[in-house]
Amino acid sequence: MRKVEIFDSTLRDGEQAPGFSMNLSEKLSMARILAQLGADVIEAGFAACSQGDFACVKAVADEIKGVSVASLCRCTEKDSEIAWNAIKNAEKPLLNIFIATSDLHMKEKLDMTREQILERVAATVSYAKTLCPNIEFSAEDATRSDRNFLAQVLKTAVANGASVVNMADTVGYAQPWEIEELVAFMKKELADSNPHKLSVHCHNDLGLATANTLAAIKAGADRVDVTVNGIGERAGNAALEEVVMALKTRPDLYGAETSVNAKMLFPASRKLTMLTGCKVQPNKAVVGKNAFAHEAGIHQHGVMKNPDTYEIFHPEDVGSSIGRIILGKHSGRHALLDRIAELGFAELTEEQVKTVFEKFKILAETKKTVGDRDIEAIVRSEVLGIPEIYKLDKYVINSGNILSNTCNIRIVKRGDVFLDGFAAGEGPIDAAYNAINDALKKDARLLDYVIESVTGGTDAQGAVSVKIAVGEKTVKGYGVSVNIFEASIFAYLNALNALEE
Ligand code: MN
Repeated sequence: MRKVEIFDSTLRDGEQAPGFSMNLSEKLSMARILAQLGADVIEAGFAACSQGDFACVKAVADEIKGVSVASLCRCTEKDSEIAWNAIKNAEKPLLNIFIATSDLHMKEKLDMTREQILERVAATVSYAKTLCPNIEFSAEDATRSDRNFLAQVLKTAVANGASVVNMADTVGYAQPWEIEELVAFMKKELADSNPHKLSVHCHNDLGLATANTLAAIKAGADRVDVTVNGIGERAGNAALEEVVMALKTRPDLYGAETSVNAKMLFPASRKLTMLTGCKVQPNKAVVGKNAFAHEAGIHQHGVMKNPDTYEIFHPEDVGSSIGRIILGKHSGRHALLDRIAELGFAELTEEQVKTVFEKFKILAETKKTVGDRDIEAIVRSEVLGIPEIYKLDKYVINSGNILSNTCNIRIVKRGDVFLDGFAAGEGPIDAAYNAINDALKKDARLLDYVIESVTGGTDAQGAVSVKIAVGEKTVKGYGVSVNIFEASIFAYLNALNALEE
């Protein structure tokens, strides 16, 4: 079997899409599971883009070992230097240098001629190579570029030290057979160049990102860019879980494998969902809620006789059967620890495990059964390690249809300062948030509020995600409780605490 390398861009292309932004601790937490699942490269961000991005890339490069860590960078010496400073402590640092090669992009966006592009690529790649041992060069909008010119650019990159050259279907324009042909063409063109790997970066604007990625693999691509849940700019990128499972399911066709542990696919998907608050569609391949649901009678009958009748792979193959086992108040620390590891949170410290176990016991007293979603909800705040500067002490909410909604609240600041607030509102949550603003003398504005039940049943925990703005800054918060008012207050305070960080 031929090895195909997985270049994961969840933290870069994925994270830059609307609604998927992650802060430093969220990115680190996601990076840990990407390394654990066996990605070959983690693209941690675009270091020169902002100071925040730089800090995130650096944090991932400093901490995450056993995997190559990359930063995207524009084709300039300055960007290369900034990116290099962010990734230099990585075990295998990689600069992913890109520039557009289509006539449209060169003319409209870059205002550069073909000759200028070739010069720039040669100059930047050779300079970057003096900084970083591993250089990937990516041709943006490659699929709408003149093939012969594209080949010239990639040859230039390889000649100047790039060990990987990537062709990006930046706008999701290509069709599978086109990509297959392009990869085959480029392999031939670059046959006499220095040793290098060929990779692709496919977008999903026509729903073809996975198909195109697989077509590239069929034609001999050595590496592919993917993201968990297929997140990314616009309609997203090729989904990691889909590409991995296609290769695993059809070795007869591809003769290729990845180093990804498929049992980590579902936990990684869940973790991303939890960190970003963005759910995957129920019918999403491999990781959707319905990916293994059999509704039709004939199907159910078949699956009961033999799951192979209607499943080409099974939930346990992708680590999603874990939801079937339920923990309760008689479950011990070990059972909980095992489950936490299976859910992708092997990163907890002793101290954190202690807190999580205490919270688990309290919840198990209230609820008969504690499911995976409950555990994830508890673990989340621990992993992200947001300091509890403001903590809820007590509150009363008055709500109904014959009186105005009001909230009285007491918040404790740093364990010893009591801040009281009172306010009315359009509804109970509005009243509570106004009361918190009153107590903290803050002018926080609520931008987004989502509530969902963590599990089924009327005793389910409510999980609230909020996005708030204070001045220029926006920040996310998350709270869980069997009481939805309390969950809402927790989420708001969690956001305000994250802001203080
Ligand atoms: Mn992209």
